[in-house]
Order: sequence, then structure tokens, then C-alpha cells
Amino acid sequence: MANTHFFGPDTFASPEQYLPMPFRFERLDGNRVLLTNSSGEYAILSRPIFDDFVSGRLPAGSGECLELKSRSFLMHGADPATLRAVASQWRTKKAFLESGPKLHIFVPTLRCNQGCGYCQVSRAEAKTAGVDMPFEKARSAIDLMLSAPASSMTMEFQGGEPLLAFDLVRRMVETAAERSSLAGKTLSYVICTNLTLLTEQHIDFFRKFNVCISTSLDGPSDLHDRNRPFSGASSHAVVVENIRRCHDDLGPGSVSALMTATRNSLGRAEEIIDEYVRHGLTSIFLRELNPYGFASKSGKAIGYSTDDFVAFYKQSLRYVLDLNRSGVRMIEAYAAILLRKILTPFGVGFVDLQSPTGEGFGVVLYNYDGDVYASDEARMLAEMGDKTFRLGSVSDSWISIMTGPTMQSLAAAGVAESLPGCSDCAFVPYCGADPIRHYRTQGDIVGHRPTSTFCHKQKEIFRTLFDLLDAADEETMSILLGWLNLRRSCVSSPS
Ligand code: SF4
Repeated sequence: MANTHFFGPDTFASPEQYLPMPFRFERLDGNRVLLTNSSGEYAILSRPIFDDFVSGRLPAGSGECLELKSRSFLMHGADPATLRAVASQWRTKKAFLESGPKLHIFVPTLRCNQGCGYCQVSRAEAKTAGVDMPFEKARSAIDLMLSAPASSMTMEFQGGEPLLAFDLVRRMVETAAERSSLAGKTLSYVICTNLTLLTEQHIDFFRKFNVCISTSLDGPSDLHDRNRPFSGASSHAVVVENIRRCHDDLGPGSVSALMTATRNSLGRAEEIIDEYVRHGLTSIFLRELNPYGFASKSGKAIGYSTDDFVAFYKQSLRYVLDLNRSGVRMIEAYAAILLRKILTPFGVGFVDLQSPTGEGFGVVLYNYDGDVYASDEARMLAEMGDKTFRLGSVSDSWISIMTGPTMQSLAAAGVAESLPGCSDCAFVPYCGADPIRHYRTQGDIVGHRPTSTFCHKQKEIFRTLFDLLDAADEETMSILLGWLNLRRSCVSSPS
């Protein structure tokens, strides 16, 4: 046969011997092993295949070998293209670092008109003086935010109850909108409100500035009213009526909500989720009690173990999936955040689950008194008398805030990939360091993962999600993939 210009197939065949790429692993059960790598790819192998893989015995052309190669768990010989692809995926996952914090939280007032036992911000009574942000400080805070490098930012109003200081909130948004356009920056707005004070004026303002509304709904009226007491009336009746008004006037999807689980919520997952469906909400964020503010004191009355919460979470997730299978659209927002981290190459701006930590790197908080903190949790701690994570004041420069000693200690303890316990954990590509929580719960900014309740919860939820992905039929997979476009507002946290 005449010479051709093509090499034979043997030239392109992979050599028999492959090189495993760096990976971490976790035994899901007696027969399945989860492998992950730094770029966030995962594979679930049976134990015999895993043993063959790590011993270099996988046949070169086998399906498993090709699958692992496509996910960068192995390569044949020195392969710069594979290394470049892995580096590019890793850069994409960490892209949130490139322009600094995008979430800027403002506390216009610490006053609140509700008396929730689990309040994590140590709110002040509605008539308390001296806990509103003076406008001069608000203006300095806006200038400080706009001096940050990010070109698009979210301005989020927390409290207390920000609608108790509505004139200030409106002035701040108007000022920020004007200044941001001069600075060439794009702003979006979120208000975290208990929605008990809503007026037509507020609705007009939300419409004008396209403000996302994040609220709390803890379930049916007996549960919500018990958790979120409100003098003289049922807070549940007011909130569901105002959710309806927002949906009517601003459109479906204008309100996102979360529920905080207390001991009274356990065992009532289905009723709570049904309540969300009844009021036209299409996502629910299941939040456990936080170890800050009043919640840290009311633990005996309303608290529970991490295992109790995880059982509640699993029951809720199962029910949300069943609802979707029956044609009712409902998203569990925490699962959606984790799935986006597991199934897409992109990072997610959720402070607790970032590495390097989102505290200071993803979010900055401007308190009513002009102090600047590394996160919402940092100011919660400050209200408890501990200002360890104060970054400075609104009169400081951006550079001094971001390079000061507090940010340096957060940076040192905030890279999960380098922390004891996390560094060899298979879930670390999707998890976070959360140094402030570990400082609060364990008295150590680095933390001790074997006894960390954060770590325990994370591991249980990750295992649940990987089991779900491993067993998912086509319908379940299509439901989970449909959750990946969760909007940022869905993960904001009203106090
Ligand atoms: S906190 Fe726990 S689950 Fe998360 S990466 Fe660290 S060891 Fe793993």
C-alpha cells in the first residue's frame, strides 16, 4: 500500500501506564469511594475499581480510565494540556478573589419591632436611641464601598429591621445609585426585612430600584408566631399578607424567604415546606440556629444537636424533591448553593463556604456606629462585646481596611485547603474555612475539625448530596440541574 501522510492508530494510543493526578477521597460506604480534585471534579468509584486505579492497574482503554482522564484524575505521560485545563478550572473556581468583596452589608439600625428568641444580632427595642446610622457615616460608608475595586456590587440592608429606618435606607440607595454611576460601577440592592411594616411607599421604592426582598417565614402560624413574637398581633398573618402584596405588585419571585429551625420545627418539615408553597414561594433556605446573639443564650429552650438538624434537613430535602416530582417547583437553597459548587466550574458568593474565607474577601459590613467588620457574624460578635474582627471605621481608606492585622489573621486561618482536617478532606473543594465561627465556637480561629459542629453538619450534607447524585435517575438529575441558577437574593439572611 502506498505511503500516506497519516500515522497509524498506535501513534495516538495512550501508553498503558498512567499517572494519577492529585486527588482526595472519602469512603461513602463499604463499597463506594468519592474522589475529588482541586478543580472541583468528582467521581464515585466502586471499591475494586478504586483499588485498581490507585494501584495503576486500570486498563488503558477501559471506560473508567477514560472517565477519570476526562475529569483530570489521571494523565498519560507529561501532558501540559491537561495541566493547563486543571489550572484554568481552578482559577475559575477562585475567581471571586479577583476584584475583592462584592457583597457590602449595611446596618442602618439595630432597632427591631420583633422579639425573636433566636435573634443573632442582639437587636435593640424599636424605640431605642443611638442605634441608627447617622447619615454622615452612611455617606462615608458608601464612599468606602465605591472605593473598592469590584465593578459590580450588592448593597444589602440588614438590621435590626431596616424598614424602621426607611428614610435613611432610601437616602442611602439614592446616594449610592448616583455615586455609583459616576464611578462606573453597577449596584444591586437587597433588603432583609421581617416584612411586618410594609407600606405602598416601600413597594414603590423597591420597584424603582429593583430591590430584592429577603424575609423570614418559619412555617405555619403557630410555629412562626412562637419563634417570631410580635406585640399585639400574629406576625405570621402580617408577613404572609405582605408576601402576597409583594407578589401582586412586584411580581412572583420578588420575595425570597428562609426559615430558622428551632426545636419546635423538628419533625414538621413537610408542614413548613407546604406553607411556602401555599404562599407562592419557590425556594426555601433551611437555616440552623447560629451561635451568636440571643440565640446563644436560648439554646436550652429552643436548641438541638447537629444530628437533629441534619435529620430535619434530610427529611426536608426529600420532601422538596418529592414536590418537584409531582410538578410543584420548589428549591432548597442551601443544596442549590452546594450543587452549584459541585456541578459547575463556578464559585458561589456564599460567605460560609468560601476558601479563602468570604469574611473580608467576599463581604464587608458597615455597622450603624460607623465600624467596619469582616462579615455579618463579625458584627454579631461585636454586639456580644467582642470586636476581634473589626476591620476599621468608615473614615479609614479601603487599602488600610483590607491590609490591616485583622484581615491578615483571617487570611492566615481562612484557606481551608491548608487547615488541619480540611487539607485532606474530599469535600474541601466545595467547603469553606469559616474562621469566625470556629473562633466563636472553639475559641480558635483555625478550629479543630473533628469536634467542629460546622464540619460535622457539612460532612453529613455533602454525603447526602453525593448519595443523591450517585443514585439520581434522569428526572431527579433534571430537577437538581434546574436549581443551579439560584439568584443571589435567595441566600441573603434576615436576622
Ligand atoms: S470543614 Fe469539614 S467538611 Fe468542610 S472541608 Fe473541612 S474537614 Fe471537610
